[in-house]
Amino acid sequence: MAYIQISKANYKHNIDLLCKRVGGKDKLMVVLKDNAYGHGLKVMAELAASFGIKKSAVKNIDEAIQINNLFEETLILADHPPLSKQDDNISFAVHSIEGLKKFPPKSSIHLGTDTGMHRNGIQYEELENAFEIIVKNDLVLKGVFTHHKSADDLNCEVFWQAQNYNKFVQKAKELVEKHNLKMPNFHSCNSAAVLRKQSKFKDDFARCGIATYGYTHVDKSFLTQNDQENFGLKPVMSLWAEKLGSRNLKIGDRVGYGGIYEIKSPQIVSTYDIGYGDGFFRYDGLGDLSIDDGKILGRLSMDSFSLSGDKPKVCLFRDATEIAKYFNTITYEVMTKLSPYIRKEIV
Ligand SMILES: *Cc1c(COP(=O)(O)O)cnc(C)c1O
Repeated sequence: MAYIQISKANYKHNIDLLCKRVGGKDKLMVVLKDNAYGHGLKVMAELAASFGIKKSAVKNIDEAIQINNLFEETLILADHPPLSKQDDNISFAVHSIEGLKKFPPKSSIHLGTDTGMHRNGIQYEELENAFEIIVKNDLVLKGVFTHHKSADDLNCEVFWQAQNYNKFVQKAKELVEKHNLKMPNFHSCNSAAVLRKQSKFKDDFARCGIATYGYTHVDKSFLTQNDQENFGLKPVMSLWAEKLGSRNLKIGDRVGYGGIYEIKSPQIVSTYDIGYGDGFFRYDGLGDLSIDDGKILGRLSMDSFSLSGDKPKVCLFRDATEIAKYFNTITYEVMTKLSPYIRKEIV
């Protein structure tokens, strides 16, 4: 059976590296949304908690209730207001005034602010109104945050957005005092923003996903002298497939759907148990896609692919970067698409 191997040591290494940048374990919220970027929600939540991490973020309520017992707080990033109040340690990112009005009393929320990405969050002019709703509806304001749109890119947008966010922070602090509320946490940085920042980290915590899994798309020119290649991050996941069967093929035999790969010398060809039904990309067999253990012969099927040789198991990748490049996408997508049904093995 195909499986995803999780390197506990590499996960710990990345988390330690990020904690060092932000100033300690209490300042890192691990982002475990979308099945922990394909790594397995429960597996990664348990590891993170065992390392002493106290905050996590997930996509929706379904994910939150699977892991919230492991953390002091679990923040839901992309769900709709719930019909009933959730556990105290589950909080919700609020994306609009319209949404804010729908939360049941006593719900814990983090107010999203739109500092320039124009995807989610309330506008500066809406802050006063938001606080009035929070007070009137008896909501618990745990955080005020924003999200960067271009922290990966080699330009100044991240600083422009940070300045905008500062204005929200100042105003929010005034409103907290005016309404006699408990001071919420302020947070704005994802992995890229943490990695490219040279100055001291000032927020209450950072929300890191991709870097905890060993990747970044931050422009390499942000590497400082102290940083190693890839900021010293190490990929956590490797993807393995096991052999379903082998056959001896002769010159002229053609492999797989459409028969587009023709055998040029007699050889053993084996079939392995991962396909696009498992969330790997559908390779059309026309290019020259090499996985770690060889060149895929012909098209990748729904549940299998073929390789020359007869190894009992083969590795598709130990580092998702090349696969991402080949399919013109980012490492986030390569990993997130992997089926949650693929078995996880921690080493
Ligand atoms: C996904 C997400 C993150 C994590 O981003 P990475 O680039 O993976 O570190 C942080 N904040 C929000 C709001 C997100 O949606």
